[in-house]
Amino acid sequence: MTDQVSPGAPVAPKLASRHGSGSGEVLLSVRNLEAVFETGDGIVHAVDGITFDVHRGEIFAIVGESGSGKSVSAMTVMGLLPTIKVRSGEILWKGENLLDFDENRMRRIRGGEIAMIFQDPLTALNPVHTVGRQVAEMARIHDGLSKKDAMKRAIETLDLVGIPEPAKRAAMHPHEFSGGMRQRAMIAMAIMCKPDLLIADEPTTALDVTVQAQVLEVLVDIKDEIDSGIVLITHDLGVVAGLADQMMVMYAGNQVEFGTVDEIFYETAHPYTEGLLNSIPDLVGDHSKPLIPIKGSPPSLINRPSGCAFHPRCSYARVPGVCSEQEPKLRDEGQGHMSACHFTSVDWKPQ
Ligand code: SF4
Repeated sequence: MTDQVSPGAPVAPKLASRHGSGSGEVLLSVRNLEAVFETGDGIVHAVDGITFDVHRGEIFAIVGESGSGKSVSAMTVMGLLPTIKVRSGEILWKGENLLDFDENRMRRIRGGEIAMIFQDPLTALNPVHTVGRQVAEMARIHDGLSKKDAMKRAIETLDLVGIPEPAKRAAMHPHEFSGGMRQRAMIAMAIMCKPDLLIADEPTTALDVTVQAQVLEVLVDIKDEIDSGIVLITHDLGVVAGLADQMMVMYAGNQVEFGTVDEIFYETAHPYTEGLLNSIPDLVGDHSKPLIPIKGSPPSLINRPSGCAFHPRCSYARVPGVCSEQEPKLRDEGQGHMSACHFTSVDWKPQ
């Protein structure tokens, strides 16, 4: 490692030509989005200048620890956080800025064109109504189907997500479903109107490993079946490695690394990403390697550290000096693989 900073010139991410297994049509294009909350204790910098594209047919993962801004980013895209203030940037949906849409138009987009799958189906499902009624409701609201037709489609959709005896299950209440079945019901609700984009926020966190794998398989099958894109928000890099095409790593509201899953796993460009990878069992190689957790904990988003927000936890930080004083900008490590570190990976990685 040298002490010489290799600052490079900050450049805009080259996103337009990069896509995974999808058809290439850009569905969602988030540009330099900055959003804050005002609280009694100060301003929470929840999302600080993130930029990414999601294409039809692709799974785009947003990864980071709790409080890194990944869920807030998705909720901001959906317009689900009334107290958040977007300070700058654009959220382009098929070329139109969602930030210009009124609430009526946003309501039609939500559930109709973009649907969200939440991590806790028990709080998202109404305990009073049957699962079938709740799934059918989506088609009544967004597609104006009659009660009978909506229920018919609900049963077909419950079948599609792998719920056995769907007609019988449709008449049951959420508490009569297992955790995995409830999550499948949530997916059924989300896909009732064949949305172009599914945003899945930690969709399998509450499930055991076997059920997790089954639910994720359903998600991938559904994506192919309805030709949608998926934004997958997760802290689980194992899930990302198996499923996603492209990914963005977030830290303290910042986008610190962006690229294809292969680039990020095999040519890691940011020390925080390396820390995340070191703290989980090796997914491809040496299964006996020791796990090394990242020291410390994520910073407060009200009083973020100066310079690089990761510097108090970074093993490669040069303090006092560059890392604690200057905020790194995203720059290209090659072919659109972006990293927000003052140093290229050649500089910081032990050789
Ligand atoms: Fe670590 Fe410095 Fe790079 Fe931040 S800029 S990730 S502190 S080496």
